[in-house]
Amino acid sequence: MARNLLGIADLSPEEVYALLERADALADGATPQRLAGRLQANLFFENSTRTALSFGIAAGRAGVEVVTFPTEASSLSKGESLLDTARTVEALGADVLVVRHRDAGAPGRVAAAIGAAVINAGDGTGEHPTQALLDALALRRRFGGLDGLTVAIVGDLRHSRVANSNMLLLPGQGVRVLAAGPTALLPDVLPPGVEVVRSLDEAVSRSDAVMTLRVQRERLEDALDLSAIDYHREWGLTAARLAGAKPELAVMHPGPMNRGVEIADEVADDPARSLVLEQVRLGVPARIACLEWLLT
Ligand code: ASP
Repeated sequence: MARNLLGIADLSPEEVYALLERADALADGATPQRLAGRLQANLFFENSTRTALSFGIAAGRAGVEVVTFPTEASSLSKGESLLDTARTVEALGADVLVVRHRDAGAPGRVAAAIGAAVINAGDGTGEHPTQALLDALALRRRFGGLDGLTVAIVGDLRHSRVANSNMLLLPGQGVRVLAAGPTALLPDVLPPGVEVVRSLDEAVSRSDAVMTLRVQRERLEDALDLSAIDYHREWGLTAARLAGAKPELAVMHPGPMNRGVEIADEVADDPARSLVLEQVRLGVPARIACLEWLLT
């Protein structure tokens, strides 16, 4: 049976630590293992910019051949099912399938149907484990380690697979996680070790890093009775809202950012605080480390 990376539960805290050590070394210039002769198939049934590109780049650095499944132009439009598509891709020789899908659990169903490894590249409101790994890597490199940090996750946690994976990964590495957002956008149940705080100001003042999230309008069950302007006033990260922050506070966002809604330009582009592009950059070594873990 191949290993899979469907969610953070597939990794013990020790494995997370080891992956972060390896990704850190890769980010400092260590040579990726040669995984030549292996084939990665990217199956993105939802849009992606950063994740799709960086999985492609990561594979290239490790010598893995990549095929990108044309979700628009394929036989899916003739009604072929996800599982038959996955079996077909495996029959063509794929060793690892990188799957993004709007349905939570879809990558898990693929993994159960095939023998090749599966990486969840974001499944609906489920998980996005490689995003959490790269976020943890960005924090570790910024602060020299994770143990003892406080990280606030702010905004639409209810629909965020990024938040879900981070809330599972970070406490296992000794990080205190605070959750803050409009009540309608907070999950009904939070993982153990995650503390709800009621205001952005409290989240900011207690934290070493604030991770702000996009409102996932495409996943809202009911209309949100907060306009973008009201949202920005209450939950938007602005320079004024960061006045009470620790001097070394870092700001994170998984992208795509809605500037002027959850984050103001002056914060997104603040070179002293913003880790946004560093997160993107570290997606490559984090994903190389994942490929090495899955394929060797
Ligand atoms: N890019 C992230 C994801 O795919 C976050 C977002 O879309 O807001 O989950």
